[in-house]
Parts: sequence; C-alpha cells; structure tokens
Amino acid sequence: MTEPSYVVPPPPCVSVEVRDSTARFPVHRVYCVGRNYAAHAREMGHDDREPPFFFQKNPDDLVAPGTPVPYPPETADLHHEVELVVALAEGGSNIAVEDALSHVYGYAIGLDLTRRDVQAEAKKAARPWATAKAFAHSAPIGAIVPASTLGHPKSGRLTATVNGAPRQDGDLADMIWSVPEIIAHLSRWFVLAPGDLIFTGTPAGVGELKRGDVVVGAIEGLGELEVSIA
Ligand code: MN
Repeated sequence: MTEPSYVVPPPPCVSVEVRDSTARFPVHRVYCVGRNYAAHAREMGHDDREPPFFFQKNPDDLVAPGTPVPYPPETADLHHEVELVVALAEGGSNIAVEDALSHVYGYAIGLDLTRRDVQAEAKKAARPWATAKAFAHSAPIGAIVPASTLGHPKSGRLTATVNGAPRQDGDLADMIWSVPEIIAHLSRWFVLAPGDLIFTGTPAGVGELKRGDVVVGAIEGLGELEVSIA
C-alpha cells in the first residue's frame, strides 16, 4: 500500500502524558459536561435536576503542564473550572452504566477555561458555546493516571486556588451524574472512541483569572495541576 499524500500538511496527533510511562495517550475528541455539581449549577442560576448536557473542546486546545496559558482574546472575564477528566481506552455506542468503567483508561486533572462573558451572551442569545469554551489553550490537563493503579475514584476532594487563595472546593462524590452515568449518556449521542477525553464538570467557586495569576487545581489521589496565565 502506498502512503497517502496530502494537499496541506496533516494535523499532528495531540497526546497527553501518562504518569510513570514513556508512552502517551493519543487524543481523539474532548467532551465536556455542563453543570454537574449542584452548588455550581445553582451559582450559575439553574436547578440541579436536569439531565446531563454536553459540549466539546478541540484536541489541540489541550495544554501540557508547565506551559503558560496566554490570556485569550475577545474576553474580559476568563474563568477557571477545575474538573476530573476521564480518558477512554475503549469506545462504543449505547454503553450500559454497569459496563461503562471498563471503557476507562485513566483519570487526570483538567481546567475548563471559559470566556464567561462570551458564554453569558451566548446563553442570552440562545447561541452555541463554541467561542466561550473551545478556544486555543482552553484546556490545561495534567498527566493521566491509569485506572490500573488509581482505581476509579468515586469520592475525593477537588479544589482550585488562585495565587494561593481558595476558590473552588468540592468533592467528586457531589457530582450530579457519576462517571459511569456520564459515559452511558454521552454514548447515546456520540460514538465514543479510544482516545476520547471527558471533562466531568466543576464544583462551586468558579471565578475570574487575570494575567499573571497562578491557578492550582488539585484532586485527591491525582495531585496538582499548576497553570499560569501569561
Ligand atoms: Mn466545565
């Protein structure tokens, strides 16, 4: 078989570091869950009884640890959202809740950086969230820890500090929709694949980031992810 040739350069494969491994996790898609912690849903003006809903970021929006995030254009209200990220080893459609965790490769800490002012305008105008959520450098992520060593965390504190001051504080046990439920729901709408990442939502305490700020996301069992805003 001859190698295909391309009319423009093909995109590189985006990948994420795996803790204690030289092999990397290749990224297929980046899904995100909205309003998955009751206290955050309430702080955004919603109740906590709606089914999960999803949006996406782009694989090349991911940012490796140690890489500063340039303050994005077209916003004056950049927000941090610390989240547990699920990395899938296997995909599929209509995955049963009981089978869902067997599809998971591992877990990481992620930040769902958000142009909150743009998102507020989009909500008001009933427009999509793409420009609010899926911009360059909008998805810092730490090393993926394999479930084979970590297990599947059902509880554990997750926090975000900015310049050392506490901002977000929650527990994975407070997710409205659990990881297996999220995978099951998502697989009804999309054909999931190995390499998919799922940002699972954020607890209360989201807030603004300025140039020069250092945000540290932490999840019990996963360690910390430090991100500076340039
Ligand atoms: Mn989020």
